[in-house]
Amino acid sequence: MAHRVTLIPGDGIGPELAEATRRVLDATGVEFEWEVQEAGEATIASEGTPLPERVLDSIRRNKIALKGPITTPVGSGFRSVNVGLRQALNLYANLRPARSMAGVPSRYDDVDLVIVRENTEDLYAGIEHMVGRDAAESIKIITRAASERIARFAFEYAVANGRRKVTAVHKANIMKLSDGLFLEACTTVARDYAGRVEFEDRIVDNMCMQLVQKPELYDVLVLPNLYGDIVSDLAAGLVGGLGVAPGANIGEDGAVFEPVHGSAPKYAGQNKANPTALILSGALMLRHLGYAEVGERVEHAVRAVIAEGRTTTSDLGGSAGTSQFADAVIERLQSAAPSGTPASAVA
Ligand code: NAD
Repeated sequence: MAHRVTLIPGDGIGPELAEATRRVLDATGVEFEWEVQEAGEATIASEGTPLPERVLDSIRRNKIALKGPITTPVGSGFRSVNVGLRQALNLYANLRPARSMAGVPSRYDDVDLVIVRENTEDLYAGIEHMVGRDAAESIKIITRAASERIARFAFEYAVANGRRKVTAVHKANIMKLSDGLFLEACTTVARDYAGRVEFEDRIVDNMCMQLVQKPELYDVLVLPNLYGDIVSDLAAGLVGGLGVAPGANIGEDGAVFEPVHGSAPKYAGQNKANPTALILSGALMLRHLGYAEVGERVEHAVRAVIAEGRTTTSDLGGSAGTSQFADAVIERLQSAAPSGTPASAVA
């Protein structure tokens, strides 16, 4: 049965990356039926909003979406589509793997981290106010329910993907109640996985230093919203930057897979941008749908093409276009597939 997926091409370089990714995913043999939904700049003019209700309805129906980057217009009064999507669909877990890739310049060659960020509360709940004219207050919300939910997500991800350890990251030495509650929730959930997945915790400032000094010691990290936002960019920096970093926002009723980078308008329509991050987001989507082995094959194909260095985009020092890179990945996938076997059969 074909998987019906909402495909949001997005703005700027989004449509060409989405096309490249769709072709790669179709070449895996897993059957997809793509329901294309425009959102972003174009729909502001035609529908008066960058996030029409029909897009949300489509994701609610299909429970899964692949999304290109969307421009957030500065000063227009429109909220970020990305934040809007997360809130409307209660996508509580932000998942960002960061893995070193041969051929992508970076300071390290052995990083393999997965950042799991709580997406719904903490200082991002947006509750703030002025106290008189010269002071402002932001309220940090941490609940046991949301903390246990994200901790369980991190442990389940670890089990499903053969990861050995979960590290909870916090500042409970100072914020004894809020971060203390987050740590307590993670510790409670960890007991259910004892003997299967190791558990430890780190204070966030120490965590940042350790990630820079010895990233190979860490595996899956689980963090409240603000630390997760910061540490996930740090982790992307350890493996060569945002251009190759995939991501996912996952909730109980749906999941949206998208690259970490933005719409890079200066490259739009030039067949120049690197589709790696969106293709790898597609590989995460395959894993989420239960095709772990097919997802792995897509990741291998991308890594092999980049490591070989003959068909890379200009950000990685090559001269290939977006579509040529996708062609090279498809060729790799097809040469690696067991002959005569649809890729879906090995999932
Ligand atoms: P950006 O990621 O779009 O671009 C920063 C720079 O990174 C670009 O100039 C380009 O050199 C490079 N780059 C990014 N992606 C690349 C790719 N795939 N291939 C090659 N080079 C790439 O960040 P920005 O300029 O800060 O943001 C542009 C717009 O994107 C803004 O409107 C912002 O709000 C939006 N944005 C959207 C998302 C999202 O939809 N999830 C995320 C971040 C930013």
